Amino acid sequence: VTRQEAVEAALSRIRAAQGANNAFITVTDPPVPAAEGAVSPLAGVPMAYKDNICTKGVRTTCASRILGDFTPCYDATVAERLTAAGAVSLGKLNMDEFAMGSTSETSCFGAVKNPWDLTRAPGGSSGGAAAAVAAGEVWYAIGSDTGGSIRQPAAYCGVTGMKPTYGTVSRYGLIAYASSLDQMGPIARSAADCAAVLDIMMGKDVRDATSLDAPAGGLLASLTGDLRGKRIGLPVDCLGEGLDPEVRAAVLAAAEVLKARGATVEEFALPVMEYVVPAYYIIACAEASSNLSRFDGVKYGWRAQDYGDLEELYAKTRTQGFGTEVKRRILLGTFVLSSGYYDAYYKKALQTKAVIKAAFDGAFTKYDLLLTPVAPTTAPKLGESLSDPLKMYLSDIYTVSVNLAGLPGLSMPCGFDQKGLPIGAQLIGPALGDAAVLNAAYGYQ
Ligand code: GLN
Repeated sequence: VTRQEAVEAALSRIRAAQGANNAFITVTDPPVPAAEGAVSPLAGVPMAYKDNICTKGVRTTCASRILGDFTPCYDATVAERLTAAGAVSLGKLNMDEFAMGSTSETSCFGAVKNPWDLTRAPGGSSGGAAAAVAAGEVWYAIGSDTGGSIRQPAAYCGVTGMKPTYGTVSRYGLIAYASSLDQMGPIARSAADCAAVLDIMMGKDVRDATSLDAPAGGLLASLTGDLRGKRIGLPVDCLGEGLDPEVRAAVLAAAEVLKARGATVEEFALPVMEYVVPAYYIIACAEASSNLSRFDGVKYGWRAQDYGDLEELYAKTRTQGFGTEVKRRILLGTFVLSSGYYDAYYKKALQTKAVIKAAFDGAFTKYDLLLTPVAPTTAPKLGESLSDPLKMYLSDIYTVSVNLAGLPGLSMPCGFDQKGLPIGAQLIGPALGDAAVLNAAYGYQ
């Protein structure tokens, strides 16, 4: 196929699938790709971005009314790098409003539906990204992951997604949710495709103060699939209460495959798992309440009508511009940061984060990689999580710890439940162990 044919095929696939799964917020008709010739493995390959990643001249909404007509005048570093490598963006993908959620149902553009079963959620918050890849609309998509938003939708949609080590991918141009946890990464059909995309995305960027000066590139070339002698730890605290037996069985079967490829797999205790969800939601909401204070009707996007004074302009814009889940988190975050409660909640959560990180660092003195489920169940029915947000928060248990500890985590398909819904297994590596994580997934696949 020529580049032109690839783009036309993807656009016609998007036109056919959009009405059913609502994966896109904005579809762009890209310029005809430049002449054939390999600039990089990604040259001419149709892809798309989650709609919280700034794209010059293309509306970037965060699936929120408050940014409904916001068009950035610059590209995120990631978009700049991918474009330079020849990537062809077909538009912007649907998501939970401001990336807050686990089902992609809180979008002001309507819920995304899971291509495997349109009555179910695709996961979230990068649900549009996972659905678009699963439905064959784009070859890969760029998502963001603050507490699992790449890995969990990848699991629910039967595709591969990776959150790289914190700091390896520039966050410049990613509209912030919780800056100390946010990281962008690919959702694609395989670990090898993720590696090819990360080779372009990763690398130092002076415009992001948390960007690491670590070596970048060469991930794709490093894949061998050789797992001989690799020690893989299986935390029993991720296999117990609350885990669907079919998901457990599929993850244990994945462990057997890794063993057959030459790895050793051993169960061990990781008791900090009990604390990861409360610590995550306190820190994420605290940072969100601060990050989202910039949306005031003055500087970006949408502004309420009929206000008397400045204070009323702020209040009306925010009241009408943000959805219920975003407001809940701003309120929670403001509360845990308020004087009198700071020590009891926010400070304690930060101390807990340090304990969690130490526990993972300890595990990596014994193991090269960890294997866990991605989520306790397969894709839930649409609507279920909206009525029970606490249950939704608890379902993030296996993914949020990876963000709190700043580690690389990958979600790969490892089977189906009896309803025919995909199940995901998660591989976690030590900080900067991204290549080892990708290689294990490559060996498995
Ligand atoms: N589900 C988690 C949350 O709602 C994670 C979201 C994300 O990673 N952006 O915060």
